Amino acid sequence: MAENEQAKAQTASPSAEESIFTKIINGQIPCKKVYEDDQAFAFHDINATAPVHFLVVPKKPITQLSAVDPSDEQLLGHLMLVASKCAKQEGLDEGYRVVVNDGKHGCQSVYHLHLHVIGGKQLGWPPTGN
Ligand code: 5GP
Repeated sequence: MAENEQAKAQTASPSAEESIFTKIINGQIPCKKVYEDDQAFAFHDINATAPVHFLVVPKKPITQLSAVDPSDEQLLGHLMLVASKCAKQEGLDEGYRVVVNDGKHGCQSVYHLHLHVIGGKQLGWPPTGN
């Protein structure tokens, strides 16, 4: 990663402009799509950290986990279900990790809520300092 991602996270912030993920959802930026429905979109991370690494994002442009509202409860549950469904689709039968980075300390670099789904190899734990 990681220094690059950490550096990006120092300067990234929520913006009134469309996020890069909204542009991906709208087809303005190409991606390797994994899944789409009326509420969610999933696509492979451009900078994979494991053999399988995809992102699950809401179509609603929520900036980050710390900005969710009680009215997002159904949507947040739906994103988890989509992560589980896509993990099966991608063959992650031995398990995987779901990560949500929030804010500067969480190393968030794109301010459009997303679940990282990472797998396809044995992962370590804990993710000390990373
Ligand atoms: P964060 O650090 O915000 O939790 O994760 C953002 C992720 O989005 C990173 O893993 C990064 O590689 C990925 N990403 C950033 N820009 C693009 C892009 O244009 N296309 C795709 N597919 N992934 C991207």
